[in-house]
Amino acid sequence: MTAAKQDRLKIAVQKSGRLTDHSLDLLTRCGLKYSRGRDELICFGENMPVDVLLVRDDDIPGLVHEDICDLGIVGQNIITERRLELTTRAQPSPFMERTLLDYGHCRLAFGMPERDDNDRPVDGQRIATSYPAIVQDFLVREAIDAQVVEFSGAVEIAPRLGKADIICDLVSTGATLKAHGLREGETVLESRAQLIQTPVELSADKTQWVERLLRRIDGVMQVRESKYIMLHAPRAALAKIRDLLPGSESPTIIPLEGLDDKVAIHAVCRETVFWETLEDLQRAGATSVLVLPVEKMLA
Ligand code: ATP
Ligand code: ZN
Repeated sequence: MTAAKQDRLKIAVQKSGRLTDHSLDLLTRCGLKYSRGRDELICFGENMPVDVLLVRDDDIPGLVHEDICDLGIVGQNIITERRLELTTRAQPSPFMERTLLDYGHCRLAFGMPERDDNDRPVDGQRIATSYPAIVQDFLVREAIDAQVVEFSGAVEIAPRLGKADIICDLVSTGATLKAHGLREGETVLESRAQLIQTPVELSADKTQWVERLLRRIDGVMQVRESKYIMLHAPRAALAKIRDLLPGSESPTIIPLEGLDDKVAIHAVCRETVFWETLEDLQRAGATSVLVLPVEKMLA
């Protein structure tokens, strides 16, 4: 392998699942153009020294921890499970947890049969889960004397099979729990996708690319929410209108030719702009209100 090749950043991303499209889309929005390898396991970056490895999400923390990949994108549920597991094996900082991303939202929560009135496990119960370290950690912190039964999949059927009293699993809408006659209880962990980095120090070149990518990721996440608002406002209503603009710091105020009592206001709003906000602006005296999407942004 040539030196140049070794200096390419390797990012591990889920091969096929809930995080795949979001993660590849994020990297594309960061400017990465790639071609997929013949084995479909690697995407070679064509315009940046960045390659994407497509793997099972469960393997991502390990690949980053072992420095086979420099970066990885995976759910906090899997990151936390792996961190707790490695910490108990005297590996206190297996990887660096960096930017939290704006997708992959879910929660790890208890699910119990309808007849069970508790929202959390009680002493003596058996809990089926694919997240034994997280659940064990919860039990220790809360001083609950319950038993963890590890399941690798189909956790929801454990109570019906008599293998457990309650479960602890990922939930987003709760429909799966309901379909199995279970009720959602306490949340143990809120989760979304996160970028992790190898614990091993990177070369100066790679560090530069990582920081650059992180800045672009922040920019991409900001523009997803951001809008550019333009409107005309009576000078007298300026203060009120400024207060109504969601998440904007310092709008640009432009005089209007031939109109002394009116100005144009341009502002970047970093929060979702709802119809209600536009109606409030109108009531405050704003006219000619235009809301435009923002294409790119660098803070
Ligand atoms: P793999 O084949 O890569 O092991 P998987 O079946 O373990 O895939 P997915 O179901 O694709 O994983 O979920 C990937 C991640 O998406 C989860 O680890 C979690 O962080 C997130 N996620 C978001 N919503 C949900 C949900 N409703 N159920 C499960 N995971 C969710
Ligand atoms: Zn998985």
